[in-house]
Amino acid sequence: MFVSENLAVNGQGHLTIGGADTVELARQYGTPLYVMDEQLIRTNLRRFRDSMQKYYDGKGYVHYAGKAFTCLEMCRVVASEGVGLDAVSIGELYTAVKAGFPMEEVGFHGNNKTDEELRYAIEVGVGHIIVDNLSELRRLEKIAAELIACPNIMFRIKPGIDAHTHQFIMTGQIDSKFGFALETGEAFDAVKEALSCENVRLIGLHCHIGSQIFDIEPFEAAAKVMLELMAKIKNELGYEISALNLGGGFGIKYLNEHDPAPFEVYAERVSAVVKEKCSDLGLTMPDVYIEPGRAIAAPAGITLYTVGARKEIPGIRTYVSVDGGMADDPRYILYQSEYEAVVANKAGEERSERVTIAGKCCESGDLIGEDMPLQHAESGDILAVLATGAYNYSMSSNYNRLQKPAVVFVNEGESRVVVNRQSLDDLISNDV
Ligand SMILES: *Cc1c(COP(=O)(O)O)cnc(C)c1O
Repeated sequence: MFVSENLAVNGQGHLTIGGADTVELARQYGTPLYVMDEQLIRTNLRRFRDSMQKYYDGKGYVHYAGKAFTCLEMCRVVASEGVGLDAVSIGELYTAVKAGFPMEEVGFHGNNKTDEELRYAIEVGVGHIIVDNLSELRRLEKIAAELIACPNIMFRIKPGIDAHTHQFIMTGQIDSKFGFALETGEAFDAVKEALSCENVRLIGLHCHIGSQIFDIEPFEAAAKVMLELMAKIKNELGYEISALNLGGGFGIKYLNEHDPAPFEVYAERVSAVVKEKCSDLGLTMPDVYIEPGRAIAAPAGITLYTVGARKEIPGIRTYVSVDGGMADDPRYILYQSEYEAVVANKAGEERSERVTIAGKCCESGDLIGEDMPLQHAESGDILAVLATGAYNYSMSSNYNRLQKPAVVFVNEGESRVVVNRQSLDDLISNDV
């Protein structure tokens, strides 16, 4: 009935998530409120972990992309499921350190890491650093020498794959700010340079071809291209790369008509390509990493709002305004992303009208969505926007000095706060 498997309607006609009544959660914790189902997060983590282990014969590893959603408790949950982490800034690394995350299971990403970030990553002992460009390689070599360290590195490669997704979240093509280009020989030359470095150890090649991808073909194509580069390195430089990182980007169901391939099918098909290609090219099967973010966090989360003003503009549209907006969910204003929404206290009723759901920020583009089917929403109703567990809290801002909402985890009907709502004093805490 709903886009996520953990949502249902209870006897009172209220939407439930992970067995908890969303209308009760809104009353107890206030709105706007992010609610995440811990059990579904864990189920998703295990699905990825187990399929990678199975299809890559014990050599498949998952690093959860923390940028989708992270906080101390999320790091603890990820660690407890035996899944690693991808971090992209000193802030994400610091969060993992403070959560007691096993740092050797962390990969450090970013297209423009600062010296401070590189130094910190080495000091806290990350498992590997994914190097994006030559200037970073040279700075890292210097910093590692100063620290008398030899970090493992991977190279981020642009494999030249078009993943049929929104252009702002397409990253594998040559005109991208991320990584080394393949076609121009830039990637190969960089590998040569890395092999002459004394203070870094090149262990892997990485690619990430985009996000919210439904098809398996682009992933298969990327795997082939990457393995061909590994073969070229082996044949021409006599060096065998031991890890292949295929990135994230697995699509999820935001709308009922979305039909992403189940991850198990992805793992089965891509691993078959990897194995066949390795044997054709005479390569030893590498360790294979993937980095799902959205597919783990998004389906597990919803956002609850209280409905305020309703404006019917005859012959044009009806606006239903809520007590949050682009400050807690900037995905519409960034990508015109689509969501399913439900009036949580009328979840058993028909979605009888189509409305534009608007936020409370001072931007006309501050919408949750347009032309959304919805139950008749009135002031005081609780609105649930579904599948908001990724790239909502993590992309939230204090625009208009709105306070960031709390994040609540539910687990089999029980709930607990994992991130407090910002207070008014939090808003001015750095002001001088
Ligand atoms: C964003 C990103 C991911 C995660 O992408 P999802 O679409 O959330 O799965 C993984 N790896 C890299 C390098 C990324 O930039």
